Amino acid sequence: MNKIVMYGADWCPDCQRAKAFLKENNIEYNYIDVDLNEEATKKVELINNGKRIIPTLLINGKTYTNPDNSQLAAALGINEDYRIIMYGADWCPDCRKSKAFLTDNNINFQYIEIDKDENEWAIPLIKELNNGKRKIPTIVINDDQVFVEPENDELRQALKIDVVKEEHIYDTIIIGGGAAGLTTSIYAQRDRYDSLILEKKTIGGNAFLTQKIENYPGFTNISGPALMDKMEEQARVYGAKIKTGEDVTSITKEGDLFKVQTKSNTHIGKSVVLSTGSTYRQLNIPGEQELIGSGVHFCATCDGAFYRDKDIIVVGGGNSALEEGIFLAGFVKSVKIVNIMPNFSASETYIEKLEKIDNISTYMNQTSTEFVANDQGLFEGLKVKDNETGEESMIHADGAFIFIGLIPNTKSFADLVELDQRGFIKTTGMANTSVEGIFAAGDCREGAIAQVAAATGEGVLASYGLKTYLSK
Ligand SMILES: Cc1cc2nc3c(=O)[nH]c(=O)nc-3n(C[C@H](O)[C@H](O)[C@H](O)COP(=O)(O)OP(=O)(O)OC[C@H]3O[C@@H](n4cnc5c(N)ncnc54)[C@H](O)[C@@H]3O)c2cc1C
Repeated sequence: MNKIVMYGADWCPDCQRAKAFLKENNIEYNYIDVDLNEEATKKVELINNGKRIIPTLLINGKTYTNPDNSQLAAALGINEDYRIIMYGADWCPDCRKSKAFLTDNNINFQYIEIDKDENEWAIPLIKELNNGKRKIPTIVINDDQVFVEPENDELRQALKIDVVKEEHIYDTIIIGGGAAGLTTSIYAQRDRYDSLILEKKTIGGNAFLTQKIENYPGFTNISGPALMDKMEEQARVYGAKIKTGEDVTSITKEGDLFKVQTKSNTHIGKSVVLSTGSTYRQLNIPGEQELIGSGVHFCATCDGAFYRDKDIIVVGGGNSALEEGIFLAGFVKSVKIVNIMPNFSASETYIEKLEKIDNISTYMNQTSTEFVANDQGLFEGLKVKDNETGEESMIHADGAFIFIGLIPNTKSFADLVELDQRGFIKTTGMANTSVEGIFAAGDCREGAIAQVAAATGEGVLASYGLKTYLSK
């Protein structure tokens, strides 16, 4: 299915080597002899700034000039026992997570960016592999094992990646690589405390999933991924160690040290910072579970692009719902905002913006009762009930995005630190939790403002807390 073209000549040893490598790995390609094809010679010269260098390869639109076998292996996802092809898109956080995991473990994979015109062929293939659904990342190992939106642990098992036992004792282990965790790490590193950030998904946290941030001081308008990339870079510059695909399941105190257990490793630290943020709340209505990922979504940045020129529903009435609805209205055909309350709880800035956008309509005072799919299991719409009249109706659309609030990611620590009734971590003073040496910062903390600027501020506070604790 790949479009691989090799421009070469029969007398050229490197062309023979590259041909042999592709043949050994059962990779089909189209070979064009530049000695017999004037057009091909011109193309090679165009690619190589006027020079006639062969072999020149075109792999799904990307050019490779006289690549050695290891470069070919990297481009084509060839490893000793596996060939790995990942179908994904640059805007997709789960693709980024899987890419980071494979790269961190030095595993070659061929990445096919499905949004590129030359890779249009990949879309029907993904649908075929996913029962008609467009799900990414879809990762194919050795042509027969298919992993759809896999957790890193699934990949670890499939690729038999060894778990390395770590002996190092960190000054602090930061759980969660969002704005709060990254900031704590930047400050800790600058104070010469070595920090390890454990992140189960994508570095950047919820802010990474937000297309437009207009209220982070210093930036009138910056995309979430751009801002979080800068924070990650800054943490790395100061020496922070970052591990992704590490889902922390428990923490135990042994003497003065903390043992942090993830699904695949154990890490030891003198202190711990909990900065695990929060997760999207679901509606818990019929049809929701079945349609999640193929009609029902929680992240506009992640999945919005699937709905270009289509009709979508946004459920919610707070800042996130309006902000994301406005963002989606920029490229979908229409946005129908369904709010359970008679008025929006979002700030006036968003309400004023919303009123000026033609392709947004609002359905106020409506309770969402069921997501409906057609006979083929494809999303058809949302059933709602008017809170005043009791009248039931169906809102038709191609997909729905739910933004109705967040629940704290603190389940794993419920027996460790004191939580409030809603599950947020209670803190006092300098981000201290009920356990000495464990600190909490950001959206997982009781009373958090749930803004990026606030999360970074709390990260600073936690860094001062752990500094005081460690210098005792
Ligand atoms: C749709 C949306 C739009 C938003 N828009 C804005 C905006 O415009 N401006 C603004 O200021 N704020 C905005 N916010 C809020 C902002 O994103 C958050 O306040 C901020 O991201 C909180 O940072 P945090 O570090 O506390 O948590 P998070 O960003 O949630 O990061 C927590 C991290 O911890 C990881 N984690 C969780 N559990 C574990 C575990 N057990 N082991 C390892 N890792 C774990 C998570 O994967 C995550 O990466 C928005 C939020 C959403 C959802």
